[in-house]
Amino acid sequence: MTPFVYRCTLCGRTYARDEVSYLCPACGVEYHPGMPLRGVLEVAFDREALCRSANEGASDAETFIPVEQEYFPVFPVGQTPFLAVPRLAHELGCSHLHVKNDASNPSGSLKDRASFLVVAEALRLGERKIAAASTGNAASALAAVCAAAGLDAIIFVPASAPRPKLAQMLLYGATVVPVDGTYDDAFALSLRYTAEEGGVNRNTAYHPLTIEGKKTAGLEIFRQNRNAVPDVIVVPVGDGVIISGIHKAFCDLRDAGLIERLPRLLGVQAERSDAIHRFVMTGTYSDAPNPITVADSISVRTPSNAFLARRAVVDSCGATVTVSDEQILTAQRLLARSTGLFAEPAAAATVAGLQTALSAGIVDPHEMAVLLVTGHGLKDVDAAMSGVTVPHPVPPDMASVRKFLGSRPR
Ligand SMILES: *Cc1c(COP(=O)(O)O)cnc(C)c1O
Ligand SMILES: [Zn+2]
Repeated sequence: MTPFVYRCTLCGRTYARDEVSYLCPACGVEYHPGMPLRGVLEVAFDREALCRSANEGASDAETFIPVEQEYFPVFPVGQTPFLAVPRLAHELGCSHLHVKNDASNPSGSLKDRASFLVVAEALRLGERKIAAASTGNAASALAAVCAAAGLDAIIFVPASAPRPKLAQMLLYGATVVPVDGTYDDAFALSLRYTAEEGGVNRNTAYHPLTIEGKKTAGLEIFRQNRNAVPDVIVVPVGDGVIISGIHKAFCDLRDAGLIERLPRLLGVQAERSDAIHRFVMTGTYSDAPNPITVADSISVRTPSNAFLARRAVVDSCGATVTVSDEQILTAQRLLARSTGLFAEPAAAATVAGLQTALSAGIVDPHEMAVLLVTGHGLKDVDAAMSGVTVPHPVPPDMASVRKFLGSRPR
């Protein structure tokens, strides 16, 4: 493992690995629930050691991951498919389009990556209990990895989370506390819980290794793209941790001397859950007061990682766009029909976002773009059903089948 310190992304103070757990002790005191996190820590590797490791043929896990591999749970997270999608590219009118399909993680979302690394860190520290707040996917991911590693997961989730996600976390054996409130309420509650009852808190961005875990998707994109940097990576944005994880991946690759430029990051938010988009556009932060969207995984009033997400977009010369629920559901069908990939609405939002960026001239049709598909469509069956019509049953005879097929609009 490459030696590292934690560096505060706000004040720049550095801390030894075992000196801190969550936010910067100096800046974190200014944080209270209802505002974006202050003093989020980032892993800062020893540059020389990073270069040496990367150029001496060590694996990416050895070079870029800040937990020793001996603590990794035995669970097949990551190494998800990276594929060209020419039929979708044709539909969108662009020429070089790929998908990174993180829906094929064990629990069906990219969140497995963050949960995996936090569980590894808990194992290193000898902790047995991990708590988290989640819109649904982080919780089902944590429940899954904890089940594999034999740890206890305590989940705070809005009672309104899609039922398939609730089914997952319950089935994996987590202790699920449905909260009669929003995701933001669940976030605040879970912080109280670990402060008073102990255990590790896996909340997104609050635990610095969530960013490092999500980073692995970016490292894989680079390797699977034959060590080349795509022009644009399209990322759905809720709390803004995935997008800063992808940014961190390419910053680390640059620090290691493996690349020279960063990919532009295109962050996609839902129309009413747009706090980071407005922050990028205006430079002034304010909450999304009513973040209702069909894309539940990116519905958040106060994005915990707003500051780093904005930095990722600006530093990569990227952009943000917003898309409507109607565009998201249309994109979900388009993605499914042109690639065979069934994505949940938040993940399909990337397709709608790319469409918007192409028509706005933010992305050039000849650039190489990668859509980060973050979650599986079966995670929210109701949303998918709202975009299709289930036909009436036919009697079991061929005459009826012919009549049925003849009357069906094609
Ligand atoms: C969590 C999640 C996102 C958004 O990630 P953030 O780090 O909160 O920005 C997008 N898509 C899916 C499927 C998710 O589960
Ligand atoms: Zn600080």
